[in-house]
Formats: sequence, C-alpha cells, structure tokens
Amino acid sequence: MLPVIALIGRPNVGKSTLFNRLTQTRDALVADFPGLTRDRQYGVGRIGPGPYIIVDTGGIGSAPEGIEALMERQVQLAIDEADHLLFLVDARDGCTPEDLDISQRLRRLGKAITLVVNKSDGTDPVQSSAEFHRLGLGDPVSVSSSQGQGVRSLLDQVFERL
Ligand code: GDP
Ligand code: MG
Repeated sequence: MLPVIALIGRPNVGKSTLFNRLTQTRDALVADFPGLTRDRQYGVGRIGPGPYIIVDTGGIGSAPEGIEALMERQVQLAIDEADHLLFLVDARDGCTPEDLDISQRLRRLGKAITLVVNKSDGTDPVQSSAEFHRLGLGDPVSVSSSQGQGVRSLLDQVFERL
C-alpha cells in the first residue's frame, strides 16, 4: 500500500499547484481565484523517496457558516484516509485567522502534519516562515510549488515521519 498524503489548507494557497508538482502532471486545475477545487483529486507521485498517493482538496475554511463548517465533507474524507497531512499556508498572506482555526482543528486529529509555507519564491524563507510557528505545528517547511524550490526536501521530511 502506498502512503497517502493529503493537501489541506484554505483556498488559493497553492494546493493544486503543489499537487501538480508532486505528480509531475497538470491534472489539478490551478486558478488565481479561490474555490476551484470542489472535491478530492488523486494522483501518484514519484519524487524523492516516493512513490506515494497525493490527494488534492478544496474548500477548507471557505464555508462562511462558522467553525463547524470549516471542514467540508470532502476534506474530512481526505483527512480520514491520509497517512500524512500537508497543511499549506501562504508566505505572502502571512498567518491569517483562518490558518489558526484550521491548525487548531487539525491538531486535535492526532495525525502526522507537516506545515508547508508555500509561495516562498521571492521572499526570505526564514523571515516569511517565522510567524507560522505560532500555529503550534512545529518548524514550517518553505517551498515554492510553482518554481519547485524545497519540494524534494519536503518529501524527504515527510517520508522520515511515515
Ligand atoms: P489552491 O486553491 O490552494 O488549489 O491554489 P492554486 O494551486 O489554484 O493556486 C492559487 C494561485 O497561487 C495561482 O495563481 C497559482 O499560480 C499561485 N501559486 C501557487 N503556488 C505558488 C508559488 O509557489 N509561488 C507563487 N508565486 N504563486 C503560486
Ligand atoms: Mg485547488
């Protein structure tokens, strides 16, 4: 059985871009507006220590109906079946209240989580990731899903924890 890695995070942080990078495909639709990915999308990746199954999701934190609605059904299903969660945040937006809400919910699950600071291209990764320590998920890993920096190293770290 291949390990299952799920991509979690609020809309527009770059989950689908990372999915495509990890699967070396363009299967996931990437958009510069939020909310395009509505259900789960599966792919097989072989980068670094792979292979692995990667699951793209959409929508967490996008429902306006309060904290209980934060995890839509599809995201919950993806989380349930995952061995490891990649929680993506956006280096350019910084740490948002929604990121804090999501991190609190994720921490309660007791699953292995890696905090991924995406869009770190054009930023100082040390500076831009520092504020995310407050999410209480350990040391953030900086990547650029669109440029590729940090992705190999991210996978090495995930596989060490599987
Ligand atoms: P999702 O909603 O989380 O799936 O986000 P998408 O993958 O659709 O990406 C949202 C937007 O962010 C798109 O315009 C992407 O091109 C852009 N984006 C994604 N990853 C990166 C990155 O590493 N660096 C930069 N500069 N932009 C990115
Ligand atoms: Mg998407």
